[in-house]
Amino acid sequence: MLDSEEGKIASKLLAEGFQEARRQIKTPISENFRKLLDYYKDLTGYEETNHNAIMHHFIDMYGPDCENCGKPYRTETATFCPKCGNKRQL
Ligand SMILES: [Zn+2]
Repeated sequence: MLDSEEGKIASKLLAEGFQEARRQIKTPISENFRKLLDYYKDLTGYEETNHNAIMHHFIDMYGPDCENCGKPYRTETATFCPKCGNKRQL
């Protein structure tokens, strides 16, 4: 699993991938996210080919979604939502 520093780098690469995808619509989507996929492979040794799957790994990392506003709680152990202040039912 990624730590927060690695997560920051990976989300930056993900954002770059989306920019790239907008610029180069003819390029296969996996090529636009090549940097992210390579980075992920370096970190985990796992050859992920789907950038969406990597995003889901981040969602796992940032904790479950708030029941009230749907934003992630950030951590698995958070007691309230940083976005709307909803108290989490533990
Ligand atoms: Zn919330």
